[in-house]
Amino acid sequence: MKYFSLNKKAPKVSFREAVIRGIAPDRGLYFPEEIPQLPLSFFENIEEKSSHEIAYEAIHPFVKEDIPDQELMRIIEKVLDFDFPLVPIDENTATLELFHGPTMAFKDVGARFMANCLGYFSGDEQQDITVLVATSGDTGGAVANGFLGVEGVKVVILYPSGKVSDIQERQLTTLGQNITALEVDGTFDDCQRMVKNAFLDDDLLSQMKLTSANSINIARWLPQMFYFLFAYKQMKSQGKELAFSVPSGNFGNICAGMMAFQLGMPVKHFVAATNVNDTVPQFMKTRSYDPKPSTATISNAMDVGDPSNFIRIREIYKDNFDVLKNHLHSYSYTDEATRKAMKHVYNSTGYIMDPHGAVGYLGLKKYMETHDGTYGIFLETAHPIKFLDVVESTLAVSPEMPPQIAQLMHRDKQSIPIKDYQELKEFLTDSNTV
Ligand SMILES: *Cc1c(COP(=O)(O)O)cnc(C)c1O
Repeated sequence: MKYFSLNKKAPKVSFREAVIRGIAPDRGLYFPEEIPQLPLSFFENIEEKSSHEIAYEAIHPFVKEDIPDQELMRIIEKVLDFDFPLVPIDENTATLELFHGPTMAFKDVGARFMANCLGYFSGDEQQDITVLVATSGDTGGAVANGFLGVEGVKVVILYPSGKVSDIQERQLTTLGQNITALEVDGTFDDCQRMVKNAFLDDDLLSQMKLTSANSINIARWLPQMFYFLFAYKQMKSQGKELAFSVPSGNFGNICAGMMAFQLGMPVKHFVAATNVNDTVPQFMKTRSYDPKPSTATISNAMDVGDPSNFIRIREIYKDNFDVLKNHLHSYSYTDEATRKAMKHVYNSTGYIMDPHGAVGYLGLKKYMETHDGTYGIFLETAHPIKFLDVVESTLAVSPEMPPQIAQLMHRDKQSIPIKDYQELKEFLTDSNTV
């Protein structure tokens, strides 16, 4: 499989090169040259397959020239060592819990898959690879955890001082080994700007091998297809048409679901549910894509005003709006509506949704109002403990502390304070020479 840049001004590359580069030299996102089909029998017999077999068959065509079959299976076994249960909410609705991994947010699978691919590829590189990533919260923890101990790879994470939750900060700053946290005196936007500057700094790039681990990297994006296949396996016996609702920020997760549909999975419809950052819901209404600055909400992992992966959805549909709107609806919800949904579901079923899952729930219910007879699944992208203050202030209950989080409470924070790009560059060049 070759990958081309969606800006169409860069050469096609292999999976390996697309993963190492992250973004194409013309600043475009990479996209597979063709979308393979899984045989009908794959879906007919999916209940008999293990999650490792499902994942292997789905991703194999995308990576087979660059990762030997046995190595791919080894990676999948390492990445998928936890469950993805489908939990019923009511008769026609269920939630797919994606938060049983080490950092309790769905980003664990993509981050671990990328880490293992890069670890494999770095074996042939002369120089260590440095992964640079800015985080507003969840990404940093998942990346740090996924890359911990991977040989030949160093990870540098920038986060805004005082602007991530206590649990999120612990997930970034307590691991040590090949992971360094830089605590930036500034906002998330400042962190992101510094990372962008580094990737445009030819002097720095000539000295070191730098890559990014944000959600546009194909090794983080593609394995998210697995979730939708795992959900299908668990709901197939319902014998109903399937609709997915995905709480969306950068639109990587839902775009991967739409890829699974392209591979042949029977899905009736997708709903992209957002908070008030409604660039895509507006696009689906007006056909006009108008990015804007992001607004802070209680579902803060989705506070994105210009979703980076939406362009991939447009590519899947060859920018044919009329076909796209037959497969995708998109709705936006306020914090007030989100809290109300959390209360409603908790009071009627006892299930505790996190604010992101609640946005997904709302989008699903809206779609199902007019689509009787569908079986609806919304994705729960984070454990409610990760958004403890919102859950406690909304529901007046405290979710049980899972062991992954409890063990963090005893570790010491280690971070290096930085103020500006010059300090970032000095840190990177110094760490490169030792
Ligand atoms: C990252 C994240 C999202 C948004 O996912 P995208 O792929 O960026 O749309 C939703 N919920 C949580 C908890 C997240 O961490």
